[in-house]
Amino acid sequence: MSIPILFDMDGVILEGPRTDPQVYAKAADMALSELGADPTDTHRDDLRRHDLDSIRTHCTALEIDPAAFWELKEEYASELTHERIRSGERGLYDDIDAIGDLTATTTVGLVTNNRHATAEFVADYVPFDFDVVRGRRPTFAEYNRRKPDPYFLEDALSELAVNSGIYVGDSLKDVTAGRAAGLETAYLRRPHNRDVDRPADATRVLESLSELPSLYAAAKRENKSEYTS
Ligand SMILES: [Mg+2]
Repeated sequence: MSIPILFDMDGVILEGPRTDPQVYAKAADMALSELGADPTDTHRDDLRRHDLDSIRTHCTALEIDPAAFWELKEEYASELTHERIRSGERGLYDDIDAIGDLTATTTVGLVTNNRHATAEFVADYVPFDFDVVRGRRPTFAEYNRRKPDPYFLEDALSELAVNSGIYVGDSLKDVTAGRAAGLETAYLRRPHNRDVDRPADATRVLESLSELPSLYAAAKRENKSEYTS
């Protein structure tokens, strides 16, 4: 059996550690407009951010359904993000071809805190296939289950019908979530985390995705009692 390798998305595949806050600001404005709301400047500022309590409070004051607002904001954020990727405004890292090379050997997955619609877009956009894709769906409940909660990772492992593997990510919460899900973890160095301390629980550190073949070979050696080819 092969060793599944799951990948975080922002800062691993998509350049930069997260979605630009301007995307959410614009998405919130578009959602408010669609719902016919008339927010104050304070409402608008708060609704552009992700504080769920203030979103519930302000939406109630504006007599719009908080869940409907959230779903629309997430939907518009996805559309805006996909346009940024298509136009090249947000790039992909040059070394992601190494993930494609792995697909010949093992199962690969994409597991992110970002929106599920964007994870699916990125999975379609890259020139290789992921075996499982899991991001947050546009509900408050899913927003609250983001990493370091291992929920999305556990869901992906369940879909693959496996209970071990490696999670590759660029932040401490990836390592925390990966360990909680029973995975080995690889902490990927990128320009934005170059000076951040290595998370103590990370199994390995990668300087680039081009090190994936050696990561995979080492994992096979170390787990040969668990995995047989
Ligand atoms: Mg990340």
